[in-house]
Amino acid sequence: MRPSFHPRLINDPFSDPGLYIPFLFEKRALMFDFGELYALSPRDLLKISHVFVTHTHMDHFIGFDTLLRVFLGREKELHIFGPPDFFTHVEGKLAGYTWNLVNEYQNNFTLKVTEVHPDKTLTRMYICKDRFRPEGQQIRGPFSGILWREPSFYVEAALLDHRIPCLGLSLVENFYVNIIKEGLKELGLPVGPWLNRFKKALYEREDPESDFHVAWEEGGTVIKKEKFNLGELARKIATISPGQKITYITDIIGSPENYEKVIKLASKADHLFIEAAFLDCDKETARKKYHLTAREAGELAKMAEVKQYTLFHFSPRYNHMAEEIEKEALEAALKEP
Ligand SMILES: [Zn+2]
Ligand SMILES: [Zn+2]
Repeated sequence: MRPSFHPRLINDPFSDPGLYIPFLFEKRALMFDFGELYALSPRDLLKISHVFVTHTHMDHFIGFDTLLRVFLGREKELHIFGPPDFFTHVEGKLAGYTWNLVNEYQNNFTLKVTEVHPDKTLTRMYICKDRFRPEGQQIRGPFSGILWREPSFYVEAALLDHRIPCLGLSLVENFYVNIIKEGLKELGLPVGPWLNRFKKALYEREDPESDFHVAWEEGGTVIKKEKFNLGELARKIATISPGQKITYITDIIGSPENYEKVIKLASKADHLFIEAAFLDCDKETARKKYHLTAREAGELAKMAEVKQYTLFHFSPRYNHMAEEIEKEALEAALKEP
């Protein structure tokens, strides 16, 4: 089974946080946090459709400018989400530049910004051609944990405590469509882009009785076309299994309230990305700075029963001590109750 999402941290664990999540077979990606983005090519950056920012401390938000720059002058929409007060921070960034030339751009770029509150979301549009002035009214929506939903996945969030509100994030795939190679062979069907269309039809729960056309081409011309009943084709060439879950937790104090929320949000995740800013011997500093220790990160990975975890956001004071951080977290993750 090839996972649909291939998350990767954008920097080494001592540098700015950020998780880049490209989609398999699609020119698209999501992003959790954006610290310095220099490791990503403009091509990678242009795939991004949604960014979820945990909080606006500089190391998590400085990449905004880099991303904005590659999107300028393009026909694009970028949706970014952040904690309370996010409009103020985004508007402050936008106010830092002069926009007298943008009305000459041929294409239009729209920035959609959503502020997440404990009981509601507020969304505003900022249009490039309009010099990024806030457009229209704020749109109010309910918030009960889900920030974004599409047929094949959703993004869940929890407001955690970093002395300021900080978002914990999970990307959850609804289910996974696995293609049976043997089934394809029996029907004499080649692999190709039509499989994406087929998967999409399943994710969007299209009527199984509907027609599904398979067409394949060679050198740009369609050489064969065949019509199937969608449900029947699905039974022959696909199996459905649980989807992927990716959780991202950073910049939180190891308090009982945060523990409870993180364990729920990260429950049984396939991959947990979690900060391990300090070693347990510096627990007092971790508390004062509202960060987790490596021991706490390991403990949370264990309590949430995740399949795999990756640590990041190490304090620079442990330069050359990454192994100790990993070891401390692993001991906590493996500890018998
Ligand atoms: Zn922070
Ligand atoms: Zn940070």
